[in-house]
Formats: sequence, structure tokens, C-alpha cells
Amino acid sequence: MNSIVLHFIVIMSVSGILSVILSIIAHANRHRYIGCQLFMYMSAATAIYIFGHTFELLARTPQEIMFWVSFQYIGLPFIAPFSLMIVLQFTGFYQYITKRRVLFILLIPILTTIMVFTNSFHSLFYRSITLHTLDGFLLADFRIGYWYIIHGVYTFGCSMLAVFMLLWFLRVTKKEYLKQILILLVGMLLPITTSFIYLLGLTPFHIDPVPVVMFLTNALYLWAIMSFHLFKLSPIAMERVFEHMSEGVLILDRYGTLIDYNPAAASIIPILSKKGIGYKIEDIFSGVIKESSFIQWLRSPQDHSHYDLMWEKQQPCYYHLTASSLFNKRGEIEGRQIVISDVTEQRLLQEELERRAYMDGLTNIFNRSSFIERTQMILEEDAQNTAILLFDIDFFKQINDTHGHHIGDEALRHVVSICQQHLKVDDLFGRYGGEEFAICLPQHSFEEACHIAEQIRHSFEVSFFQADEKKVQVTASFGIAHTANDSPILEKLLFEADQALYMSKRHGRNRIYASTGEDYIPHQRHDLPPASH
Ligand code: GH3
Ligand code: MG
Ligand code: MG
Repeated sequence: MNSIVLHFIVIMSVSGILSVILSIIAHANRHRYIGCQLFMYMSAATAIYIFGHTFELLARTPQEIMFWVSFQYIGLPFIAPFSLMIVLQFTGFYQYITKRRVLFILLIPILTTIMVFTNSFHSLFYRSITLHTLDGFLLADFRIGYWYIIHGVYTFGCSMLAVFMLLWFLRVTKKEYLKQILILLVGMLLPITTSFIYLLGLTPFHIDPVPVVMFLTNALYLWAIMSFHLFKLSPIAMERVFEHMSEGVLILDRYGTLIDYNPAAASIIPILSKKGIGYKIEDIFSGVIKESSFIQWLRSPQDHSHYDLMWEKQQPCYYHLTASSLFNKRGEIEGRQIVISDVTEQRLLQEELERRAYMDGLTNIFNRSSFIERTQMILEEDAQNTAILLFDIDFFKQINDTHGHHIGDEALRHVVSICQQHLKVDDLFGRYGGEEFAICLPQHSFEEACHIAEQIRHSFEVSFFQADEKKVQVTASFGIAHTANDSPILEKLLFEADQALYMSKRHGRNRIYASTGEDYIPHQRHDLPPASH
């Protein structure tokens, strides 16, 4: 019994059992791994084929042989089309495998099975069958018919297409998937080459060695599934997510060396094209980002730690970075990933909203409440040398009435821009009411404050702004209060300044009055043009 046929039978039995195990594993994991469903069908088809072939070799009568041959063809014609579909899934053409197309792909295999079962009526698959014996085993020789050729070409075509797709995929995908692709390739090529050799009549004793080779193929697949999670996620799907993410992603190894990044990261960090993979992450950034705390963070970010980065490019850009550890299967830290989100738009919007809360929309200076708030803080720091100026535009209503409200608005902006030319960074300037403005001058003596008020008043008086076709002149009346004369309480100072302003209005406008604590006195004008109103 120590014959070559017996060896074949033993190996094929093992191979068949392996295929059944594979099919069960694939069935159990069909919801976890992409491709498992198809893989299950393919290994089931393989198992049917192998067992059919084994029993064909064990058959004792021509009827038994014919039965097991037919049995094989319940599985055999489907193996190659299923492997083609698996490759399609693996290479990212998942969405193209619709139910209709599956039926179309399986049409010829279904017809082949029917042809084999009905061969005695038409002999289209096998033209004739002759029997011979080897080592006491009854073996069948077949003369192939037309449909056998169709079946052969179709099977070969499917397998070759799958091989070409894998070769194409090998070129376009990442190196990390090399092993998986090579395993699939070997798995595909083994039965193809073997059946080719068999068809050329080069195998000993005319025994079909493909089922034996299937043993190797199945073992490879089994190993691949167990060790690499071959079908855990279609690599191209993973790649697409990575490549098309709007967030930039940097992948670092455990030593902080950049090992991968996506196109979004490259567009955020253009230096990556020069200094990228293989460089230490802090070296990539140290030349272009001034914040040393950021470089410090990059060097060893904690898991789930964040960093908000402001990067001065042509304009300031804001990024939110999140670092997280990457673990291997044993739970050890393998590296880190840093996800970079461009938050410039949100940040600018937030700044704009904050700005609107304390700035006046028309004139872009502090509004009343933020002026008061900030002046209060100044008075708490410097109660000795702070002046409060209030001024109100003279006959502003007339400007509105004569030229229209929009020119009135223009007048307000004109007044503000003149004022700003006389103020320093530490001075506060706010819109106190409709056409009334307030200035806080810290670290200024009473005389200095009066001098600045006079400069502003004079500038108003001598400048014009264009209103449609006409030149319009604007004057204002001023009131001054100073902490040297009055108690440094803001309400009191504002009240005194307001009273002084009222005095200016009463005494003819376009002038300055100041509170002395007891009285309100006019300030000497440097240049006394005739009052224009
Ligand atoms: P006086 O010299 O006594 O200050 O006279 P006046 O006309 O300036 O004073 P009044 O308080 O009567 O008029 C202020 C006007 O300012 C009334 C209001 O319509 C106008 N005003 C207030 N806020 C705005 C604004 O934002 N834009 C414009 N165009 N006008 C405004
Ligand atoms: Mg006014
Ligand atoms: Mg007013």
C-alpha cells in the first residue's frame, strides 16, 4: 500500500480537512474581516474539490469514479472566480462587487457544474473516459470536450487577472503590505502553474497534482490569516482614509523619528518634502518654529496630550496637535502618532467674536463698557497721574441732517483717526456714546493732558474730510478731569469731565474746559480761529 497514489490520497485528505477548517475560521470571522465571506466560499469550494478528488482515487467502479468527478465540479469551477473576487476586495474594488456582478462572474462556473452532471447526455465536457489501474487503484483518463476548454480558459483567465491585479497593487501600495500580497500571489500562482504542467501532460501517471498543491496554498492562506490578519481591513481602504484625511498625521517610531505622514501633513508642513521620513521630529521643526516649548513638547509628548501652535507663515496659522501612543499586539508602545488640525478659521472667528465684545463696530476703538473696565484697572495701578478726557462733536445732528447718516458715520471715523495720531499705545480711547468719546491718559500730568486735548481739538479744527462732493469740517468740545485735582474714583472723574465738557458747550463749543476740583476753567487755546458755528 506504500504507493504514490496512497501518498496522494493522504496529502489530499489533510489538504481537504485544512480547507474545511479554513472555511470554518472564515465563517466565524465573516463580520470581523473584510473578504472573509468570499474566502469562506472559496475554501468550501476547495474542500469539495479536494474530497471529490480523493474519493475519485479511492473509487472502485467506473460509476463511483463518475460520481466523485461530478462531485468535484460542485466546487472546482468556483475556486478561481472566488479568488479573483477576493483580490478585487483586497485591492480596494470592494464597491464593484455587487450581487448582480457576482452572479455574472459565476455564470460560467454554474454552467460548468451543470455540464459535468449532464455529460452523459452531450459529452461536451468529457468526450470519453478510459480507465487504467496503477498500484491497484482504478484511475480515469479523460478526453476533454469543448466546454472543458471554455471552463479551462475561464479559470485560467480569472486566476491571471487576479495575479495581474496583485502585481499592479504591489507597485502602488505601501511596503508594509508586501508580505500579504506575496502570500496571495504565491497562493494564486501555485495551482495555476501546477495545472498548466498537468495539462501539458508532464505530471507522473496522469494524476492531477492540483489538489495536492492546494494543500500548500491553503496552508499559506491559513498562516496569512492567523499571523497577519490578512483581511482585517483592506489595505487600500486604510490607505485611502490616511491619504484623504483633512487632518495632517505624522507617524513616529518609538525613538521620535518620522516614519510616515499623509498629504495633509505635507501641505501643512512644507518642510516635510525636504526633511521628512528618517529625521527626528524635533529636527524637522526646530528651524522653522520659534516656540521652544513646542519643540520640547514634540520631543516627548505624553499620550493624549495636546499642543496649540501658532505658526507665522505668510499670515499667522493656528494648529491643534494631539499626540497618542501606538501600541503593538503585545501592548508595548511602538511609536506615536501626531494629528494636526488646522484651527486657523475657528481661531480667527473666535478672536473676531471676542473683539466684537469689547470693540465698537463702527470706529474700531473700545466700546463704553470695555473702556470703563480698562480705565478702572489703570486707576487702581496709578491713582496720581491719570487724566480722563471726554469730548463730544459739535452740532453733529446737523452733519447728519445736511449730508446724511452715512456721512455722519464717516465723520465719526474721521474724528477717531485724528485722535489716534495724538495718542500713545498705553492711552485708552473709547466711544462713550453716539458722538461722544472718552480718553484715558495714564502717566500724564494735568498740563500734559490739557496739551494733548488742545492738540486734538486743534487738529479737528484744521482738518476736513470729503463728504461726497463737499469738504466737511468737524469740531468738538472737551472736558478734562485729573486725579491730581479730583479723587481717583472713575465715576467721579467721568462726572467731572462731563461737567467740564458741558461748560465747553455752554461757552461756545470747540473748546476745552477742565475741572480743578473746585471749579471748571477754560484751557488756553494755542491758536484761536473764529468759532465756525
Ligand atoms: P451738540 O453740539 O450740542 O453736541 O449738538 P449735537 O447735534 O452734536 O448733539 P445731539 O446730542 O443733539 O445729537 C447727536 C446726534 O448724533 C444724534 C444722533 O442721531 C447722532 N448719532 C448718534 N450715534 C450716531 C451714529 O452712530 N452715526 C450717526 N451718523 N449719527 C449718530
Ligand atoms: Mg454733539
Ligand atoms: Mg452728544
